[in-house]
Amino acid sequence: MSKIIVLMGAPGAGKGTQARLLEERMGLSHISTGDMFREMKRAETPLGERLRDIMSSGALVPDDLTIRLVEERTGQDDCRNGYILDGFPRTTAQAEMLERLAASRGHRLVAVFVDVPFDIIEKRVTGRRTCPVCGEIYNVYFKPPARDEVCDLHPETRLNRRADDNAETIKARLATYEQETRPLLDYYERTGRLRRVDGTRDSEAIYADIEKAVNGE
Ligand code: ADP
Repeated sequence: MSKIIVLMGAPGAGKGTQARLLEERMGLSHISTGDMFREMKRAETPLGERLRDIMSSGALVPDDLTIRLVEERTGQDDCRNGYILDGFPRTTAQAEMLERLAASRGHRLVAVFVDVPFDIIEKRVTGRRTCPVCGEIYNVYFKPPARDEVCDLHPETRLNRRADDNAETIKARLATYEQETRPLLDYYERTGRLRRVDGTRDSEAIYADIEKAVNGE
């Protein structure tokens, strides 16, 4: 049966890095609602402007919009044999919608919680930098580029800092996570579909655990 792999964890837990590895090695499509919204907010439209406001405050995009987006994206051909969700679901309404979607398309869901303590999360998020050319992710504390603020592979390009990776917004994003998203862990646990992995180790070790959790089903 095809699988939906739901990556859960606080902002900065490393979901994006793991989703990229899973996509590359398992050949499943990676759906990141955060990336989709970041793309959409660039538009000079009322919707773009609204998304800029919401995301810079660290709040969640409303469920109706988020749900519509995911419904449409996961209905595309490349998702027929399963997919990886990164950053969705984040609320009870989103989780309920995903159950209906999975059932109607015959997909089984496994939720993987990438567990990282709060103090590490803070450094990871404030230190995060990305190359705008290749998407490589760095961290000034844990995985610095060879030269400050430029990509190792694209030395002519300055690394980006995500607009919502500043101290104020991070605090709000973590609070939103605790309040809205953490309870979903209990829900997946109660229904026997939660796997926990220790997210403090290097990404290959975490990947190995995720692979086991997903295939050992
Ligand atoms: P994070 O590092 O906070 O996990 P993401 O890249 O997943 O970041 O998301 C960035 C922002 O996009 C969130 O703070 C939120 O405003 C919006 N967003 C992403 N996914 C969702 C979702 N499933 N529901 C509502 N808002 C979302």
